[in-house]
Amino acid sequence: MCIFCDIIAGKIPSTKVNENDDFLAFEDINKIAPIHVLIIPKEHIPSFNEMPAQKMAQMSEFIKETAQKLGVFEDGYRLITNINDNGGQEVKHLHFHLVGGAKLKWPKLV
Ligand code: 5GP
Ligand code: ZN
Repeated sequence: MCIFCDIIAGKIPSTKVNENDDFLAFEDINKIAPIHVLIIPKEHIPSFNEMPAQKMAQMSEFIKETAQKLGVFEDGYRLITNINDNGGQEVKHLHFHLVGGAKLKWPKLV
């Protein structure tokens, strides 16, 4: 259905950092920080806009568990989800970027 569905299916290799029945976390192929992981639902949901609240609650717990596994939970990290064209979403399968491993800058975006 999309490139991230292919990663879930194992058709495209990825470096997994956390996984359960419903969610997968894997390293971004083009890191923008020392730690840059993508966290996705295994169900093809196009963006945050279409994400049901109950599933988002489960995803929040999975994201926090992933931050713990990566060792950034206490020191801090950043979550980003790009939504549709103005948000700069390239892959139309909901994903949170978890970035960290350094003191992150907060740049102007426009
Ligand atoms: P977006 O711009 O949609 O928020 O982010 C898409 C992200 O997916 C980008 O950071 C890009 O580096 C990452 N990406 C695209 N294709 C692949 C791939 O085949 N494997 C992995 N691991 N990451 C990918
Ligand atoms: Zn997909």
